Amino acid sequence: MGDDHPGRVVIIGGGVAGLAAAGRLQQTGIDAVVVEGRNRLGGRIHTIDVDGSDTAWVDMGAAWIDDHKTNRAYHLLAAVGAGVEPTWPGLTNVRIYDERTGRWLGRVRTLLAMGRLGWRSHRLATPTSEFTNLGERIDTALGDAPRREDEYLLKATTELLDGGPVGHTHPNAFSDGPWEYLRYEEKTSVMVTGGYRHLVDVLADPLDQERIFLEHEVTAIRCGDPTDRTPAVAVETSGGATFEGSHAIVTVPIGVLKADAITFDPPLPDAKQGAIDRMGVGQVEKIALSFPNPFWRRKPSRSLHFVSVPDPITPRSVFIDVSDTAGASPGAPSAACLVAICAAQPAVQAARDPGTAIQVTLAALQRMFPDTYQSPQATAVSAWSTDPFSQGVYSYPTPRTAPGDYRLLGEPCHNGRLLFAGDSCTDGTYLSSVEGAITSGERAADTVIGQTRPSSGG
Ligand SMILES: Cc1cc2nc3c(=O)[nH]c(=O)nc-3n(C[C@H](O)[C@H](O)[C@H](O)COP(=O)(O)OP(=O)(O)OC[C@H]3O[C@@H](n4cnc5c(N)ncnc54)[C@H](O)[C@@H]3O)c2cc1C
Repeated sequence: MGDDHPGRVVIIGGGVAGLAAAGRLQQTGIDAVVVEGRNRLGGRIHTIDVDGSDTAWVDMGAAWIDDHKTNRAYHLLAAVGAGVEPTWPGLTNVRIYDERTGRWLGRVRTLLAMGRLGWRSHRLATPTSEFTNLGERIDTALGDAPRREDEYLLKATTELLDGGPVGHTHPNAFSDGPWEYLRYEEKTSVMVTGGYRHLVDVLADPLDQERIFLEHEVTAIRCGDPTDRTPAVAVETSGGATFEGSHAIVTVPIGVLKADAITFDPPLPDAKQGAIDRMGVGQVEKIALSFPNPFWRRKPSRSLHFVSVPDPITPRSVFIDVSDTAGASPGAPSAACLVAICAAQPAVQAARDPGTAIQVTLAALQRMFPDTYQSPQATAVSAWSTDPFSQGVYSYPTPRTAPGDYRLLGEPCHNGRLLFAGDSCTDGTYLSSVEGAITSGERAADTVIGQTRPSSGG
């Protein structure tokens, strides 16, 4: 339906989806306010200086830009001179330690394991109706007596990418075909020097800063009957503030929607609520560590990522060497930094008990590097799964998720007054990614622009 009044658009959430939507609307002359629960912008982009030295910038949320040459996030950053570094575990920059033998695998065996990982991951992208969940499919792909490193690498990497336990993930989660979302080819994976925070600045700086309301937790969104009530939308916060407007764009993460943290009045349509209920929310946490030296490297100037295969095989961390991007900007000094990334149950435990997570991580490093190990200068642990403003990391398709659910999630409702954006509203964009979130925010803004005629535009 159309609206002849210049509308104020209330955007719930100041992550990249909300910021991109606000930018697009404000450029068009439409009043757009951003209502954000945290005391900072960026949402699941959160870069911290681990030891406060301005040399240890580590991303505790989004970190990689995949297929960067065609990725919007990269081009937005490149326009302001930000630098990137290739930081993806590949064939030749990974070491694998086996806790059963207490030894590092040799070069050839590591190369073969990484090659088989790539090949098997690629095969998981072919749609099939043979399995009920991804865990079954992976077990079949591994065969009866898989090498320990093969089993660990395949399970660990799929859980890190999707965030859900493989036994609770749709068998076709890695296929493009059945879903509305796209998947990256992962021809390249780069990290931003000084962190993804630079992208938040790129999106937030041009906005009218007086239209950004931090520490305003939204608890209810009421949509009036457009024929007899104005304002059409009232967004209420826990502190008692109300933001009125012609439209609201909801960009809160899937975890927040699933937790029913916001009351919708009238309630969301059954179809949309059903799609939310059927989606999974992944759990991934990061343990960031800064050290005096990169003691894990074979050559001091060459980054090296590694995994430790537990005995018996259980979910555990993979270690990513992020020293090359830890400086504030290209060419600035950078500290030796590692990030241990864990998914599923260990991630939930890390968020609940960060002290133990750090001890376990340091003990693993001591076992792997008994001769060169150094104590960290500083540590930090993320808590996405317990944070009320994320309640997990990102969505993944469970065995119950149906084709069409991602489209339903992004569809406007309540006479077009209530719109949805964010990294799960990925109809035709990339699932659970910064780029997908930006695109969805712009799309929601364009939908409003199509409905609303600001007074300045006649
Ligand atoms: C650990 C981790 C690793 C990741 N790795 C990558 C990666 O390598 N590459 C990649 O592309 N993507 C990655 N992602 C995903 C990426 O971070 C997200 O897809 C993207 O940042 C989502 O942006 P968004 O705006 O949709 O949501 P968010 O950034 O979550 O923004 C939503 C905003 O809503 C706010 N909010 C929530 N509830 C309320 C409320 N009740 N009231 C008011 N405000 C509220 C939140 O505080 C938040 O600021 C990762 C995410 C995590 C957590």
